[in-house]
Amino acid sequence: MSYRIGSGVDFHQLVIGKELWIGGVLIPHHKGADGHSDADVLLHAICDALLGALALGDIGFHFPNTDEKFKNIRSILLLEHCYQLITKSGYTVVNVDSTLCLENPKIKEYVPMMQLAISQSLKVTVKDVSVKATTTETMGFAGIKSLSSSLSVYPTLAPRLLKVSPQLRPEPFSVVPLWK
Ligand SMILES: [Zn+2]
Repeated sequence: MSYRIGSGVDFHQLVIGKELWIGGVLIPHHKGADGHSDADVLLHAICDALLGALALGDIGFHFPNTDEKFKNIRSILLLEHCYQLITKSGYTVVNVDSTLCLENPKIKEYVPMMQLAISQSLKVTVKDVSVKATTTETMGFAGIKSLSSSLSVYPTLAPRLLKVSPQLRPEPFSVVPLWK
């Protein structure tokens, strides 16, 4: 069985006048994430992880921020599109593990909702989606508490993708020994 693993990282700045969407959930906060779409840092990283697992490029390639049709788009739609791409390649998601890195707001109470939103988009169970959170201990651009204008997130994701259809399996690699 051929498993594949991808990883994704994303960053957005927190600014006044924007909504804060993380993991498909609207989080009440006095600042929101700035970006061309809804700037959902967690979903963007998961998109990149899905694409990366199959070497399908990255989120900027599939959804360029110069394209008006993606302006203010809900990133859950981007995630669902990425999921379609991987299913077209014969894969499905086994699990997602992610880590958010931000000082404020605290997101613990929203994690179950994030897990639900992500699991529904990726056709897995809630227990297949892990959302962890950490801070930078006030260090660096994610850590200036009083500013709280920058949000940085390092969701390191490992969606394991499992071949579902035997017909879609690629030909096995023919390994030619170097000594021949
Ligand atoms: Zn992003």
